[in-house]
Amino acid sequence: MKTLFLNPPSYEGFDGGAGSRYQAKREIRSFWYPTWLAQPAALVPGSRLIDAPARGLALEDVLPLAAEVELLVLHTSTPSFPSDVKVAEAFKAANPKLLIGMVGAHVAVSPGPSLAASEAVDFVARSEFDFTIKEIAEGRPLAEVDGVSYRVGGEVVHNAERAILEDMDRLPWVTEVYKRDLVIEDYFIGYLLHPYLSLYTGRGCKSRCTFCLWPQTIGGHRYRTRSAENVVEEIALAKRQFPQVKEFFVDDDTFTDDRPRAEEIARGLGRLGVTWSCNAKANVPYETLKVLRENGLRLLLVGYESGNQQILHNIKKGMRIDVARKFSADCRKLGVTIHGTFIMGLPGETKETIEETIRFAQEVNPHTIQVSLAAPYPGTELYREAVMKGWLHENSDSLVGADGVQISSLEYPHLSNEEIFEALKVFYKRFYFRPGKIAELSWEMLTSAQMMKRRLREGVEFFHFLRQRENHA
Ligand code: SF4
Repeated sequence: MKTLFLNPPSYEGFDGGAGSRYQAKREIRSFWYPTWLAQPAALVPGSRLIDAPARGLALEDVLPLAAEVELLVLHTSTPSFPSDVKVAEAFKAANPKLLIGMVGAHVAVSPGPSLAASEAVDFVARSEFDFTIKEIAEGRPLAEVDGVSYRVGGEVVHNAERAILEDMDRLPWVTEVYKRDLVIEDYFIGYLLHPYLSLYTGRGCKSRCTFCLWPQTIGGHRYRTRSAENVVEEIALAKRQFPQVKEFFVDDDTFTDDRPRAEEIARGLGRLGVTWSCNAKANVPYETLKVLRENGLRLLLVGYESGNQQILHNIKKGMRIDVARKFSADCRKLGVTIHGTFIMGLPGETKETIEETIRFAQEVNPHTIQVSLAAPYPGTELYREAVMKGWLHENSDSLVGADGVQISSLEYPHLSNEEIFEALKVFYKRFYFRPGKIAELSWEMLTSAQMMKRRLREGVEFFHFLRQRENHA
């Protein structure tokens, strides 16, 4: 079937895409690659992938394609679901014969209600959906496809679960789809060099953080990996296909979970002479960091989440504060840049723990930070806990406000959602408006014209974001 994979248009600047772990409009305009859509697109010959938010496309720009295709696959998320349903309805109205399916964690955890939301959605693909979509695109009847939920005479039918993918080398390379359908300059992430290119070398995370969406919904808790040769070959090809790329980003949940393999891949990347970065937990030993650094690693994206040990226990992070401190010092020694991520409003948060986390962030001093509000995505243990304990704020359904910016969805008897919301703004100000940090970032701008241009643009966006926060508060 002629297939269109669409990351649908939604809020202006909304990074809700099929590669974004935390779907919201960001403090600084950012877009992750729609890798989760590019993967099945690579399995369906002649298909097309459109990433509407990153391209700045509106519904009227993509709707004419309704007449040209037979299968439409939309990636959706909890915050964008209502708007994605409207996109499905517009496509169905334009071409009633079009088969429309939705994929993503939101429909994976609530297939029935997702189908009930609109007759325009013919099916949803649950869990890992790559081969589910491939089979549907080959024309196989829905009744014969594992991992799919659909309607028969008004009743929702859930087919058997799809077997989890074990041989990850069966997945064709997403970078070929990027080459065919995307404009890589559209993809910005504040802390990555531009243009960057991201891909996965494996799926799943062995940790069990209660707030974390993908391992609990799609990827699972086993780190299933592609072979090191397969990964290095793909990056070698991508290097030739995209000579303008300044940095490759390995977007696996926790690339450093399998250290011997991470070191093997690093050595391969070192031979290619590329600059690269990845996600990591703050527990990688010095020896491994050293091998990675000597082979082109520039930056680690590290989820510290909190500076309070009890909160880390509450969310099952499996991380010790003292280990995170040593890891941060090791990175500094080796010259590995850290982008640290923190979350305000996790279970156990109090005014005191907020203060503790801000001080911890100042102490470990990542180069840049991102502060999020605890987001109870349906399908996560955090969501179930919040429902059970009555922590959900009345506005918590979509996790973002009318403008697509994150909102505080949790509140506690001792800490209101406004106080959590306020903490985010205070956190950013106290982290960035320190003389040492201002000097560090100014020096970075003075030594690179490209960095100067970017940081000035980001600075304007950041102040705009802080102003918006003042208005929201
Ligand atoms: S370590 Fe990171 S990717 Fe893994 S479950 Fe925790 S937050 Fe998610």
